[in-house]
Formats: sequence, C-alpha cells, structure tokens
Amino acid sequence: MIQPLLQDAGIKKMIELPVISSEVKKRKPDWLRVKLPVGPEYAKVRKLVDENKLHTICESGNCPNMGECWGAGTATL
Ligand code: SF4
Repeated sequence: MIQPLLQDAGIKKMIELPVISSEVKKRKPDWLRVKLPVGPEYAKVRKLVDENKLHTICESGNCPNMGECWGAGTATL
C-alpha cells in the first residue's frame, strides 16, 4: 500500500528499523533518578530567572542537577 506512494516520491528503498518492545525497556536504577526540585532556595532562583528573563545553561541543557544546584542557590548563565 505504501510502496506505490514511496515510488511516486522517488524513494526506491525503505530502511527497516528494529522494534523495541516496552517489555525490553527496563526500569532505571534508583541512583539514576533525580529528585523533583523543591524548596525555598529553588523557588528563589526560579523567580529570579523568570522575572529577569534569564537564559541558563541549566535549562537549555535540561541539566539533571537543577534541583540540587538551584536548591543551593546556584545557576549558570
Ligand atoms: S549549575 Fe548545576 S544545574 Fe546548572 S548546568 Fe551546572 S550542574 Fe547543571
């Protein structure tokens, strides 16, 4: 069914990708899990960043340490 459409689009060959079932995926180890960012110091940094429209590498890089660093009052601009 899709083959004629592919041929019309000039595509001659499809790549077959492996299917990974959800059963194969395993739960991440506890040490890899990150705590949700909470606390007054985190809220203070969050507010500063938002109010001043700052761009942080923490957010841009989706850094997993944000809870810890921002919770200690540290962010990298
Ligand atoms: S300051 Fe902390 S949260 Fe920000 S990028 Fe560095 S390690 Fe990550």
